[in-house]
Amino acid sequence: MEGFAKTGDFCPNEACRDYGKLQDGQKQTNIKKSGKTAKGVQRYECKTCHHTFTETTGTLFFRKRTPEHEILETLALLAEGSRISSLTRAKGFKEDTILAWLREAARHAEAVEEVLMADFKVKRAQLDALWSYVGNKGEKKLPRDG
Ligand SMILES: [Zn+2]
Repeated sequence: MEGFAKTGDFCPNEACRDYGKLQDGQKQTNIKKSGKTAKGVQRYECKTCHHTFTETTGTLFFRKRTPEHEILETLALLAEGSRISSLTRAKGFKEDTILAWLREAARHAEAVEEVLMADFKVKRAQLDALWSYVGNKGEKKLPRDG
């Protein structure tokens, strides 16, 4: 399979026996559309596990070894002011791993922000702190004096 799987093509619930199986319209048809959120985002339901998810969940960190919820929780803690070094101690993740998640998160920052604010009660002002980790790393930015 080339390219990225689209949301709605598979169940993102890792406890589900149909987790990650792509829909083929014949044998694999466990995902059905299930209305929209208040914001108009398509919602899906897995008929196997009855887990519901939207276009913005389940695909952010697909096929990472760490469950998406834990990755998002780690990002939420960072946004709320935890240091990477204390998270590596508390959670046992390597600093490089956390930075890799941050870089991946930054690639679809809008979707990640929406989930962090909706599911983890992160405030918008705190998100800037999160992106500053990756913004200051590897990217050349013109110094700007206020
Ligand atoms: Zn499922």
